[in-house]
Amino acid sequence: MADINRLIDSARGLYSLYGERILDDEIIVNQIEVYKEDIGRTIRMMQHADIAATCSDCAGQGHGSCCMQDVEGWYDTMLILINLLMGVELPESREIAGHCLFLGNTGCKLIARYFFCVNYLCPRLMNLLGQTKAHQFMTVAGRELFSGWIVEQSLRKWLNLHTDCANGY
Ligand code: SF4
Ligand code: SF4
Repeated sequence: MADINRLIDSARGLYSLYGERILDDEIIVNQIEVYKEDIGRTIRMMQHADIAATCSDCAGQGHGSCCMQDVEGWYDTMLILINLLMGVELPESREIAGHCLFLGNTGCKLIARYFFCVNYLCPRLMNLLGQTKAHQFMTVAGRELFSGWIVEQSLRKWLNLHTDCANGY
């Protein structure tokens, strides 16, 4: 499993070297905007379908949510870099012991999230939603993940063209 602090350092390094130039690229900026809109659509559906409230209740029950510490290790440099390009301030330290580094008292601090974080439906959520709504949610979440994949591919191409460090991320 990846060391999250090493990944964050790596993403911060790329952002400080190339962030400004990447954000001058109109295609990438437009793709990031589409990605943000799709993220907003997922979040609105989570609110309307009571997913957000259910997860918040779950997180407040002491035994914690599914934002386990292990999940932070599933992230990679590119997804963290995308968050930096979106203006996210990454945490310097863990706010909630035993949980994901990105979890705060008011929820997740990231905008661009790993697929598990976007589309995991635990048994409680499956009961809440039922098959039809669960399918609708997975469709909206899938659109978000696809838009994120587009941004990631563009970033890899950009780094490949402008630097010698695209591989390995
Ligand atoms: S997905 Fe399920 S386990 Fe995870 S926070 Fe929401 S209710 Fe809790
Ligand atoms: S949703 Fe956010 S806080 Fe929860 S596991 Fe994913 S990255 Fe961590």
